[in-house]
Amino acid sequence: MSNCTVKDFYCTVCPSECHLTVTLDETGSVVSVAGNSCPRGERFGRQEATCPMRVLASTVRLEGAHTGEPLIPVRTREAIPLSLQAQAMDAIRKARVTAPVKMGDIVLANVCDTGVDVVASCSAR
Ligand code: SF4
Repeated sequence: MSNCTVKDFYCTVCPSECHLTVTLDETGSVVSVAGNSCPRGERFGRQEATCPMRVLASTVRLEGAHTGEPLIPVRTREAIPLSLQAQAMDAIRKARVTAPVKMGDIVLANVCDTGVDVVASCSAR
């Protein structure tokens, strides 16, 4: 196990914030997860150690709103790989949406080929 890598971080699935220790072998495969108090923590530990995922929240340029609001809050419908967040932010910055917009409307489909849509976090008229 001399070529193993150990990663330490906290589980963020629930407020208990268990301290996880994840061991990976030389190929980057997870060998073990320790410190978790439940199976959800083991799943989180494996994901976080190999391909961390986050929901991305931002704003998109809004055109034609009666209120004059220039931006609308958006977020990815599900978590996307952390490694793609900068690329996704670039795509979000270039996006435009025209009012009216309803909460949950797709603003940007399949962002960065993740299969996840960016949706409006609120409505605008
Ligand atoms: S391991 Fe389980 S109990 Fe601990 S923080 Fe994660 S989800 Fe909560």
